[in-house]
Amino acid sequence: MDSPAQYSYVHGVSDTPLRYQTIGRALDEAVRRWAGREAVVVRHQNVRMSWHELGARTEALAAGLLAMGLEPGDRVGVWAPNCIEWLLTQLATARAGLIQVNINPAYRVHELEYALNKVGCRALITASRFKSSDYIEMLRRLAPELDACVPGRLTAARLPRLEWLVRLGEDPTPGFLNFDAVATLAGAAQRQRLAALGEELQPDDPINIQFTSGTTGSPKGATLTHVNILNNGYFVGAAMRITEHDRLCIPVPLYHCFGMVMGNLSCLSHGATIVYPNDGFDPLLTLEAVAQERCTALFGVPTMFIAELEHPRFAQFDLSSLRTGIMAGAPCPMEVMKRVVHEMHMTEVTIAYGMTETSPVSFQSGTTDPLERRVSTVGRVHPHVEVKIVDESARMVPRGCRGELLTRGYSVMRGYWDDPERTAEAIDAAGWMHTGDLAVLDADGYCNIVGRVKDMVIRGGENIYPREVEEFLYTHPKVQDVSVFGVPDSKYGEELCAWVRLKPGAAADEDELKAWCRDRIAHYKVPRHVRFVDEFPMTVTGKIQKFVMRERMSTELGIGEQRSA
Ligand code: AMP
Repeated sequence: MDSPAQYSYVHGVSDTPLRYQTIGRALDEAVRRWAGREAVVVRHQNVRMSWHELGARTEALAAGLLAMGLEPGDRVGVWAPNCIEWLLTQLATARAGLIQVNINPAYRVHELEYALNKVGCRALITASRFKSSDYIEMLRRLAPELDACVPGRLTAARLPRLEWLVRLGEDPTPGFLNFDAVATLAGAAQRQRLAALGEELQPDDPINIQFTSGTTGSPKGATLTHVNILNNGYFVGAAMRITEHDRLCIPVPLYHCFGMVMGNLSCLSHGATIVYPNDGFDPLLTLEAVAQERCTALFGVPTMFIAELEHPRFAQFDLSSLRTGIMAGAPCPMEVMKRVVHEMHMTEVTIAYGMTETSPVSFQSGTTDPLERRVSTVGRVHPHVEVKIVDESARMVPRGCRGELLTRGYSVMRGYWDDPERTAEAIDAAGWMHTGDLAVLDADGYCNIVGRVKDMVIRGGENIYPREVEEFLYTHPKVQDVSVFGVPDSKYGEELCAWVRLKPGAAADEDELKAWCRDRIAHYKVPRHVRFVDEFPMTVTGKIQKFVMRERMSTELGIGEQRSA
């Protein structure tokens, strides 16, 4: 082979060893090192806690979860927007060796039922409501048995593995335990058991499941270990050079790696303060939090930064405390990056690239990379991670050539929960995770993400997998055939569009189809544009040509093609 540098392979050589420990151990360390310093600020709940207090509340909750009869390895769902209870649950489940299952706050009945049953959750910790979702009402619809059940004794026909429901807030609900009561359940025996677990639990144990949909339909439960996410959080923080003197504003959702790993765990492993500006994203509350809390770092997907920069009151906020942060999750427009540097004072802002299955980050720019590189690429490979770019025959391509990005190393998930087949499709025999992203590596190892092998649509940072929406639409009694794809959109980056062929003799309009979706699937998966057609553009071999539909819709809607690749 020629000089290796000519090929698209990079390895993140590092002098800093991996942290081979559990998250419980990492929290002990944080409590020891930064005891009285502020660990977390939750503005909408008026909560402030030191590391010492966060450690104590975590221990009490973890012991309480054991007192409920939960055992290491059991799955515990959490269905809530950003709040202190989310963070406590993340840390307490890891401390007790329970596997936390992140449930998207936008899920509706159909998706919730699938997620809880797929991984067999024994307990679910839930908010009472969020935005247009009444969680308790949805759960009572799914499990009417709740109304007559003693907490912890649920036997529900549609949720056969679920025993415990725990709700946030003070109000009592039949069949539910209140969150604050859990921490009071433990006695000496559970505290002893918890102490023993500190020794028993292993860094490679799984402690988190996050759902990510595939092109083949139903969501897959990416299963991550302590080592996976603790290290990724640590190295993400190191790339921003954060320390205990930093304060990180986290407006991104905690149910996704961006919030719970790149946010929570980077703060935990560097002693920085976590600041949640609100339960869901709000540009004004984010700007307020940064200014009033004197945050030094800020996270966001590109659309969030755009919303902040374009807010009519933007100029009124003193953002001069900001230094760094991360823009990630979708292609980051260069102009937006430049404005973030100049107008938000984030001179050391970084771009990160990754996916849930790789804990998530594989590439991140460094704070000292030249601005041009920092705003135009996703940076260089992360410490201890290997990446190669391959062609359709799985052969490495030369530097500068496009191909599929593959990742290997500590960060690759254990697999998709209870799905060896789709795990084997994603992670090959040599341990490479096939990301489905198209990328180019330059001679210096900087990476550009240029498109997606898969057809995923990213709407305002939310990933939408057309196949999942298609399969759902197929269940509509009037739908004969359907094809879902993304069209460019100035607000969300992309919007979802469905082309539908109705059954012979059937009649329906756009509103009917959207209304039917609205109650059954998350709002962001409801197609914004619906068109009724007689046929789809096809190749001679019978494959639907989504790019043709995308072009036609873009012309019809009067928008330019903005997608990369
Ligand atoms: P998720 O598993 O939700 O984190 O989504 C992962 C996908 O988001 C990746 O496979 C990419 O397609 C996309 N993505 C993440 N970060 C970036 C980025 N910085 N630039 C372009 N695409 C990105």
